[in-house]
This record gives sequence, C-alpha cells and structure tokens, in this order.
Amino acid sequence: MQGLMQHWPLLCSKVIDHAATYHGARAVVSRSVEGPIHRTDYRTVRRRALQLAKRLEQEGLGLGDRVATLAWNTWRHLECWYGITGIGAIYHTVNPRLFPDQIAWIINDAEDRLIFVDLSFLPILEALAPRLPSLRRCVVLTDAAHMPETALPGAVAYEEWLAEADEDFVWKSFDETTAAGMCYTSGTTGNPKGVVYSHRSNILHSMIAQQVDAMGLSSRDVVMPVVPLFHANGWGLAFSCPMAGAAMVMPGPKMDGASIHELLVAEKVTFSAAVPTVWLMLLQQLEKESGALPDLDRVVIGGSACPRAVIQKFRDDYQVKVIHAWGMTEMSPLGTLCSMKPEVADLDGEAYLDVAQTQGHPPFGVEMKVTDDEDRSLPWDGKTFGRLKVRGPAVASAYYKGVGGEVFGEGGWFDTGDVAHVNEHGYMQITDRSKDVIKSGGEWISTIDLENLAVGHPDVAEAAVIGVAHPKWAERPLLVVVLKEGRRTTREEILAFMEGKVARWWLPDDVAFVEAIPHTATGKILKMRLREEFADYRLP
Ligand code: ADP
Repeated sequence: MQGLMQHWPLLCSKVIDHAATYHGARAVVSRSVEGPIHRTDYRTVRRRALQLAKRLEQEGLGLGDRVATLAWNTWRHLECWYGITGIGAIYHTVNPRLFPDQIAWIINDAEDRLIFVDLSFLPILEALAPRLPSLRRCVVLTDAAHMPETALPGAVAYEEWLAEADEDFVWKSFDETTAAGMCYTSGTTGNPKGVVYSHRSNILHSMIAQQVDAMGLSSRDVVMPVVPLFHANGWGLAFSCPMAGAAMVMPGPKMDGASIHELLVAEKVTFSAAVPTVWLMLLQQLEKESGALPDLDRVVIGGSACPRAVIQKFRDDYQVKVIHAWGMTEMSPLGTLCSMKPEVADLDGEAYLDVAQTQGHPPFGVEMKVTDDEDRSLPWDGKTFGRLKVRGPAVASAYYKGVGGEVFGEGGWFDTGDVAHVNEHGYMQITDRSKDVIKSGGEWISTIDLENLAVGHPDVAEAAVIGVAHPKWAERPLLVVVLKEGRRTTREEILAFMEGKVARWWLPDDVAFVEAIPHTATGKILKMRLREEFADYRLP
C-alpha cells in the first residue's frame, strides 16, 4: 500500500519563496566588489531572481543548460543561483583560484553557455575567452557606471542586462531530481571531475544541515559564509540560510583578517563558516589589535583539519564555539560535524579538545563506515584506521560524463579517499588522504596528526608532512615547516617539542625549513608538489 501524502517536489525555488514570504525583510548584506557595503533582503533577492530567470529565458536558456559563475560571495551571486535554478538551468561555480588551464578545461567540459563574472576576474576570463567556444554571453556583475571596456563575447553589465526583463515570471516546475548545480573537484591528479547536484539533494542537504547537532541555523542567526560559493557548493549555505530565515553577511572580495573582523563586528554576525587558514588569519589579526568578537557564537571549520590551537583560542579567548566539520564536494558537502553528545558534553580542558579536534559524527542523512581494503568494517575503537566510505541522499552517485567511476562502490557506498578511525561514540577522525598516508615498515603513520602537532609549536606558521623514500622502512616522515615572521628555531627544538606526544616511531626523521608551502586552489597543502620537490631528499 502506498502512503497518501502529497508529492511536493523539493525544488530550490521553494527555498527563496519561503524566505521571501516568512522572512522577507531579513538582511542580506554584502561587501560589494565595487567597494561599498550593499544591503538588500530576501524579498528583493527573490524579486530580482525572478527577473533574472525571465531574462535567462530571453537569452534562449532553459532546462539543463549550464550557466557559469566566476564570482565572490555577494547578493548578486545569490540572485544568480536562484534565477538559474528557477528555470531548470544549472549553476556551475568556477573556482577562480584554479590554474587558468583548468578553468578553461572545466568551462569547456561543462559547455557553459553564459557566464556571470565579477569585475575582479575579468582579466582571467579575457585571457581565456578565445579558448571557450561555448560561451556566448558574459554578464559582468556590476552596473553601467562601473562597466569597463572589454572584448569579451556578448559583454554586458549585469544591472543593465537584468533591467531588460521584469519580475512577472513563474518558477518553472520539473522533477526534483533535475540537475541544479555543478562543482568540479579540484583534484590533485588528473582532470577535475564534475559533481552534479540535484534540486532534491540540495534541499535535503539543507534540511540535514539544519539539525541542531549539525549547523542548526535559526532566524535569529546572522550568518557570514566566508567559504566561497565556488568552494564545494558553498557548504550549502545559500540554501540553509534562506531556509532558516537567517540573515546573511557576504564578505565579497575581501577575505583578509581585518576586513572579516570588521564585518563580523559591524553586522553582529553570530555564525560563520570557513577553512582553517581564514581563521588563522583572523586570530592573528585579533591578537595584533587586541580585538574582540562580541556577537560571534559559533564557527564551522572544515575543508582541512582544524588545528587544536585554533579551537582552544576561540573557546578560551573569545568564547566562540568551534564546530569542526568534514565534508567533500561529492557530499554537497557536509559529512560530519563535531557537536557534543551527552556522552562527552561534560568534558573540559584537554579532554574536551580531544573530542573537539575530531571531525565529529554524521547528522541524520549521512551513513558512514570505515573498512579495510577488502571492504570489511573495522572496529570503532578510536584507533584502527581504514578507508572512509559514505552514502546518503546528498552524496554523489557518479561524476559528470561517467568518469572516475571506481570510487562508487557496491550498495551505494562512495569511497571518499580519506583514511579515518571512529571511536565508540561515533566520532570520526581523519588521519589522512589515502594517497598521503606514510607507510613505514608496513605500518601507517598519519601525516595530519604530525602536522597538527607541529603547528602547535610557537614558532611554526605552517607544517606539512610527507613520506620520503627510506632504504630500510620504505618511507619515513619528513616535516616541512614555514616559520612565523621573524622567528627562528632548529630541527632539534621542533623534534623535542613533538617528542612524547606521538609514538616514537612516528617522529619525523628530519625537518626542512622552507619559505612557503604550495597550496591547491581550495587552500589545501599540495602534497604531490612537495613530494616532487623533495623526491631526492636524503634523510639523515
Ligand atoms: P577541493 O580539494 O576541491 O576543495 P573538497 O572540498 O571536496 O575538494 O575536499 C574534500 C577533502 O578535504 C576531503 O576528502 C578531506 O580529505 C579534506 N577535508 C575536508 N574537511 C576536512 C577536515 N575537517 N579535516 C581533514 N580533512 C578534511
């Protein structure tokens, strides 16, 4: 027998309709690319998104067409997402930090027909335009007054272009499994792979994120998504915030510590989300100016492992709760979040940090297991690590054009490529990417654990651990370190600092001091490049 309930398609347009109806006057504040702070609200965002949808149809775009965005987090970018999805077209966020060749590759792979581009990224696009045959229209996200001369095909200022349509438009309706968005994983090897979100997965992902032990946003929250919309579906915040009726504060192009701090204070931000590097910059800034964070209540930190010292500083010095989270572009992206279950809620001091430093536990809607190479589940004892696999309604089932299928396993399990262990309470901790883990004498050494430890040294700004060939042990860890400005220390001092905090045989064999560590377009340490650089390194 079937249930007798309504079929209410889970479409992105329903989110902005809800926000405009019940939270219509809620603020959407942005630092504009042109400079000044811009203020709008959900009612206006919806109205302009309707206009945008109609205007896109006038361009001949519709169901299934890919529309690129090369843009910072601003109200205009938000309007684009809702306007594009409102006609069944697909927002394709392009990460401007990718190498130009990769940008060209993914725009061609997606066959984007129109692109919304910020003023800051015009030079990138202008240089690539001759290699982008599918692009017919470049809408520059600005007004006529700020529109520069450009030879881009079909170049027009967003405000002028938008004004050619009115908002008398009805959202298109279609099946909820229709594609809504695309995001390419930056991929440290091979070509980037396209992840294709559906309307259904976006809505379910936001509802998953809304659980109190996940992000749990409320209409009383003021949320600043520092994480760019082009990074892993913007961590879903473009949907979660309007769904909750939370106000949004968009940092635009200015992501430095001082600019972020200014907005956090001026706009009374209560909740924010970003990768660890952003928070390291903010904390340094706060120290420099003896600043405070009077309204900030919680920050979600993910994308790479959050150093213990960051969690502790936020908690002790600024009374801000850190929610350490793990996810992937392929997971829309939330996988686990570290909120405190009753089993650990009373912990304090170091014991609290031991838990807070894990990537946490999955909300309802994400299933997780850790297996050996034969797909046998490993015990949840907080130390046995293996391959981390996940499934759920907001987890990818394939990549665009069917590439890279080997990671989509039996029973719908997606092999994340991460190595992790889980403790008795279900708290997961990433110990490595499977390709980064060091195998010393057949045993695994977690590079992330060693890096976390090394950045706790007062003179160390950044640390990376890689495996270097060793005649006896096959591989041994080498610690690569960037020192804080003006600081000096020695190999011996750093190793002495680490000693006793990890198993003796985990201690790096050597420390190499460098000026800078290479990063991927999403701020992750580019270990492949480091391994190349140190390929001939002789350990002592
Ligand atoms: P990109 O490299 O394009 O940013 P993703 O954002 O999808 O790709 O990266 C996902 C990967 O980032 C995960 O598989 C994991 O290795 C790493 N990661 C994400 N969050 C964390 C975290 N909190 N701790 C450690 N690693 C993380």
